[in-house]
Amino acid sequence: MTNQDLLAIAKEFGTPVYVYDVNSIREQYEKLTSSFSKNTRFFYAAKALTNINILKYVEKLGASLDCVSINEVKLGLKAGFSNDRILFTPNCVDLAEIEEAMSLNVHINIDNISILEQFGNKFGGSYPIFVRINPHIFAGGNYKISTGHIDSKFGISIHQLRHIERVMKSTNINVEGLHMHTGSEIKDPDVFLQGLEIMFELAEHFPNLKYLDMGSGFKVPYQDGDIETDVKSLGKKVNAAIKKHEETSGKKFQLWFEPGKFLVSKSGHFLVKSNVIKQTTATVFVGVNSGFNHLIRPMFYDSYHIIENLSNPKGPERIYTVVGNICETDTFAWDRKINEVREGDVIVFRNAGAYGFEMSSNFNSRLKPAEVMFLDGKAHLIRKRDEFEDLLKNQIEVL
Ligand SMILES: *Cc1c(COP(=O)(O)O)cnc(C)c1O
Repeated sequence: MTNQDLLAIAKEFGTPVYVYDVNSIREQYEKLTSSFSKNTRFFYAAKALTNINILKYVEKLGASLDCVSINEVKLGLKAGFSNDRILFTPNCVDLAEIEEAMSLNVHINIDNISILEQFGNKFGGSYPIFVRINPHIFAGGNYKISTGHIDSKFGISIHQLRHIERVMKSTNINVEGLHMHTGSEIKDPDVFLQGLEIMFELAEHFPNLKYLDMGSGFKVPYQDGDIETDVKSLGKKVNAAIKKHEETSGKKFQLWFEPGKFLVSKSGHFLVKSNVIKQTTATVFVGVNSGFNHLIRPMFYDSYHIIENLSNPKGPERIYTVVGNICETDTFAWDRKINEVREGDVIVFRNAGAYGFEMSSNFNSRLKPAEVMFLDGKAHLIRKRDEFEDLLKNQIEVL
């Protein structure tokens, strides 16, 4: 899709608006499937972007779905994923939520000893489960998105293997899969191989094991000079490691991955309008009709999004600090070279498909943006912009 397409969408649907070019999702998915062996499955991590149309599109591609809440499971079923193509990977939920997932007959991943025990005492081996292991590999772009480190709340520590075995022995739980997800944006792909070796060792303790789920961590480039995980080369290495393990152990496991941002980040373009150009003593601010209520990644993770002025692509480059219109410090970017911005210009944030709309809120009583899907050269509105009444929905007036 071109910048002209984006400008036309801004004109037709207004700003702020998230635009998803689903062709890019298909390309990313095909990169994965062509790099790994046929006996590999990809579970799209729904939490990156859950618009039902995106879920349906990903389902049609043939992917499976990784869900972190019971509502994501229900959305997945509604989008057409069959129950055997859904994995429920919650953390810190109660047994009731796990039981609800059981009633929907999806794969279930348990991430702490307490629930493992409760589950085993109540259901024994009647319902096969996954166990989420924390291998204590430090990986991930930053502390907030790294989940494998020693202080992380995620998974059951690899040092508690004996405890897992005790629970298995005394309650007969049937472990069909092992899972690890060490974090997002892993820079060094050898971390996956290190994780895989740990999985192979652990596998020997689980006689009914069928699946090894390596989670995600696939990196995408956010700025010039950033790299995307080289899935071709990773695929080769992983395939070789699996083959070697099959030959030496005689055991065959299906490999699962859970890419979120790898599939949808690049597809997303977030369009806003420049409201005000504000020159202060030291800085030229571009104030846009958005803020961290719509795109929080720059403020929450210090993450970088390429910002371009679509309305004046040939204008001279100037240095701007791009901020939102929220009564909080909501700086999208400091000191960016952007083609001269005039009030009213349409500004785009690239790579906004993952954790963009999904983390938006109504802070400052502002409305959540619209979403548009660009499919086969056509723009489809897939979520209306919030309206004023939405702010009052669910509120109960007692005065
Ligand atoms: C968030 C998450 C993912 C996806 O991570 P990305 O960096 O978006 O690919 C995969 N698995 C689990 C369990 C997650 O929590």
